[in-house]
Amino acid sequence: MNRKLRRRIEKIVGRDGCETAPEDLACYRYDAADEAAVPDMVVHPQGSDQVAALLELASEAGLAVVPRGAGTGLSGGSLALEGGLVLAFDRMNRILEIDTGDMLAVVEPGVVNRELRRAASASGLFYPPDPSSLNVCTLGGNVAENAGGPYGTKYGVTGDYVLGLEAFLAGGRRLETGGRNRRDVAGYDLTSLLVGSEGTLAVVTRITLKLLPAPRSRRTALFSFSDVRAAADAVSALPGSGVVPAAAELMDATCIDCVEKYRFGLLPAGAGAALLVEVDGDERSADSQLALVRELCREAGGNMFREAAGEDEAEAAWEARRAVSPALGRAAPDKIGEDVSVPPSQVASMVGEVREIAARHGLTIAVFGHAADGNLHPNILTDRRDPDLMRRTEAAVAELFAAAVEMGGTLSGEHGIGTTKARFLETALQDEALATMRAIKQSFDPEGILNPGKMFPSPLGA
Ligand SMILES: Cc1cc2nc3c(=O)[nH]c(=O)nc-3n(C[C@H](O)[C@H](O)[C@H](O)COP(=O)(O)OP(=O)(O)OC[C@H]3O[C@@H](n4cnc5c(N)ncnc54)[C@H](O)[C@@H]3O)c2cc1C
Repeated sequence: MNRKLRRRIEKIVGRDGCETAPEDLACYRYDAADEAAVPDMVVHPQGSDQVAALLELASEAGLAVVPRGAGTGLSGGSLALEGGLVLAFDRMNRILEIDTGDMLAVVEPGVVNRELRRAASASGLFYPPDPSSLNVCTLGGNVAENAGGPYGTKYGVTGDYVLGLEAFLAGGRRLETGGRNRRDVAGYDLTSLLVGSEGTLAVVTRITLKLLPAPRSRRTALFSFSDVRAAADAVSALPGSGVVPAAAELMDATCIDCVEKYRFGLLPAGAGAALLVEVDGDERSADSQLALVRELCREAGGNMFREAAGEDEAEAAWEARRAVSPALGRAAPDKIGEDVSVPPSQVASMVGEVREIAARHGLTIAVFGHAADGNLHPNILTDRRDPDLMRRTEAAVAELFAAAVEMGGTLSGEHGIGTTKARFLETALQDEALATMRAIKQSFDPEGILNPGKMFPSPLGA
C-alpha cells in the first residue's frame, strides 16, 4: 500500500486507528479456522461515517475490505485472502439502547454477545442466540454468520432476532433495512439477505435485535449413555414426544474424555456419550418436560447423570459443554471442525456415517453439536505436518459433506462457508440457486471488493 493511500486512511480513522506493523498485522492472520492470510492494514473505525469514508476510498483504490469481529469464525471468513483492509469493530462496541417496551436492543456490531445477554437480563429480558463462543464473539460476526448455538432448538438462531440493520455497500452507500417492527413485509426482505452474507454484500454498522421476556424457570440435566448411537436415538425421538427442549447438546466419548482431562468431574467420565438438556418455562412445565426427557433417555438406554441444583451447577455444566471445542484442540496438533446439518430425524444416521468414515480412513473423529436441531460438529483430530494423515483427513471431510447432502442435509448449520467450504458449495446447492446468489453478489458488489475469495467456489465471472 503506498504512502499516499495510507495517509488518506489515517486521516479518516486517525493514526491510532490504523495498524501496519508486521507484528500487529500478524494478530489478524488467523481466525479460529486456522487458515492464514495477512492484510495490508487493519483499521479500527469509530462510527458509521468513518466506515462510509473507508469504503468509498477502498472502491476508488481497488482495495479489498474484510470486516472482522472477534475472529472466532470457523470458516476463515475474516481473513484477508487478497490483502487490503481489515475493518476491525472493537471500537464500535456500544449497546445504544435497550427498549423494554418494544422489547428490542440497538447495538453496534462490535458488542460481544455475552454483554448484550447481560444487559438484556438486567432489564428482565432475554437474548437467546448463544454461540458457544459467546464470551468473545461479536454481534456483527453473529449477524454475518447467522450464528446459532445450543438455544437454537427452541428459540432459533441470530437471524430470527434481527429486526433491522444499518449497513454500507461497496463505495460507501448507506443501506437501511427493516426497522423496529416485529412484522415487516414491505418489499424484499433485505435484512434476511444480509444476515448470513459473511461480509460479502455489505458492512453492518448497526443492528436492531428483538428481545424476549426471560423464562421464569429452567432445568438443566446431563444424561449419560453407553453409546453415541443411543444418545442420538434419544434425540431423534424428541420431536415426536411433544417436548421442545431449550437445548439438547450431544457429546461423544472423545469429547467427554478431552474435557475431563482439564475440567474434571463435570461430565460422565467413561460414558460413550452425554446429552446436556435444558428445558424452560414456568416451574411446573419445566418439571414435567424434564420428566418426559428423562423417560425418553431411559427408553434409549440412558441414565440421568446429574440434574443441576441451581444456577451455578447449570453454568458449570454449560462451561463443560463450551470447553469441548478448546479441549479437542489440545488433544491433537490440529483439528478440523466441521458443521454439517441434517434433518433432526437423521441425527442417528449421520452419527453412524461419521463413525464409518472415521473407521474407513483410520481417523479419530469426535462428534458433538446441537443435536436436537440436527446440527452436528464432527471434529477430525489430525496433524497438518503429516501429508498422509492430511490426505485421509481431506477425503473424510468430502465424505462427511456428501453423506449429509445425501440424507437431505447441508454443508453448514451455523459456521458459514467462508473460504474453507467454498469449494464444496456447488455440491449442496441447485445450479439456479448458485447462479442467483452470484447475481446478488454482482449487484451488491460489482467490483468484488467486499470480502473477496469467500463463499463462492470461483471468482465472479469465472
Ligand atoms: C470455541 C468456539 C465455539 C463456537 N461455537 C459456535 C456456536 O455454538 N454456534 C455458532 O454459530 N458459531 C460458533 N462458533 C463460530 C463463531 O464464534 C461464530 O461464527 C461467530 O458468529 C463469529 O463472530 P466473530 O465476532 O468472531 O466474527 P469473525 O470471525 O471476526 O467474522 C466472521 C464473519 O463475519 C464477518 N463480519 C464480522 N463483522 C462484520 C460486520 N460488522 N459486517 C459485515 N460482516 C462482518 C466477517 O467478515 C466474517 O466473514 C464458535 C467458535 C469457537 C472458536
